[in-house]
Amino acid sequence: MSFEYSERIKSLPPYLFAQIDMKKREKLSQGVDIIDLGIGDPDIPTPEPIIKAMQKAVEKPEHHRYPSYEGMLSFREAVADFYRRRFGVSLDPTTEVITLIGSKEGIAHFPLAFVNPGDVVLCPDPAYPVYKIGTIFAGGIPYIIPLKEENGFLPDFKSIPKDVLKKAKIIWVNYPNNPTSATAKEDFYRELVNWAMEHNIIVASDLAYSEIYMGNEKPISILQIDEAKEVAIEFHSLSKTFNMTGWRIGMAVGNAELVAGLGKVKTNIDSGQFQAIQEAGITALKMPESEIQRIREIYKQRREVMVKALEDIGLEVYNSTATFYLWVKVPKGYTSAQFVSLLLDECGVVCTPGNGFGQYGEGYFRISLTLPTERLMEATERIRKLKI
Ligand code: PLP
Repeated sequence: MSFEYSERIKSLPPYLFAQIDMKKREKLSQGVDIIDLGIGDPDIPTPEPIIKAMQKAVEKPEHHRYPSYEGMLSFREAVADFYRRRFGVSLDPTTEVITLIGSKEGIAHFPLAFVNPGDVVLCPDPAYPVYKIGTIFAGGIPYIIPLKEENGFLPDFKSIPKDVLKKAKIIWVNYPNNPTSATAKEDFYRELVNWAMEHNIIVASDLAYSEIYMGNEKPISILQIDEAKEVAIEFHSLSKTFNMTGWRIGMAVGNAELVAGLGKVKTNIDSGQFQAIQEAGITALKMPESEIQRIREIYKQRREVMVKALEDIGLEVYNSTATFYLWVKVPKGYTSAQFVSLLLDECGVVCTPGNGFGQYGEGYFRISLTLPTERLMEATERIRKLKI
């Protein structure tokens, strides 16, 4: 028997990390002490009150049945409350908020609600790969918008040709940004909202990293812009803010029609998130600011120490005060893949090659600050010995 993959699977972009994964496994089997700075997965445990809330919630029989598709109203109210407190944005929890099984789930499914085969989706590059993949799964065509350092890694959406705009349904934006760590200000979002309204394009904003910032300026939500609710849906997550990547809980908020469209897809694909997780999620969303600040301080300290050590070695790190990523220029004479291979072969350090996030990531690599400072320092000591 032989089975052929669908065109949809065959048309997915190549998985550029496969070679690194293989090499990493090989090294581990040889007993090499690998320092993995490749994955954006917090090492800090989920705060205790959230775990306690989960332990209690899991015992309640009413949570053992099918959850509602759109999520518990109490969770959606907690999301609305979080948005009010943090961003000054008011949301109707019954129509403008939906619970997600992690924001990845919502991001991947959203195009199914609004994209017809042949429609264009405007995808930034480099970027979290799911924007492009969700587009392809919906039969859409990703149109690449380069994110360049000279533009602060913001998309130049005004330069998109008219014929592309006519077919474009959605534009994806993500600030604070993975992988570049760039941030966006109010002016950028205001121009984007005006432009999107003019061209009848949905803005899908991914705000997963809003709470991982180190400077005095708090990242903003697109929904803080007047009229944004006319055109925008925002995806958010408890994963990065509360160290809950494994729990799979997130939310989409904003324009009621867009939220409802995503709901229609989800109703037919999944059956909502386990209610006990949503109940623990409520505890997370109500955590005092001091707890989030404690987590932020850890990343701040790691970023400062690591940037200094890398710059000492002669590596150039993009200057940012958000996310737990460092976006670093590859030294002259190497491609991203070559340099990342060298780090793994010679230092036992795993980093992510920039081109794994798209062609415009070439020339960079990404370091994730999701290991204790001592391990980060050990990694830089090993890299120093390369004498690059
Ligand atoms: N958006 C961005 C930019 C991410 O980097 C990630 C995860 O790495 C996600 C969304 C998905 O997060 P989750 O599905 O855990 O909510």
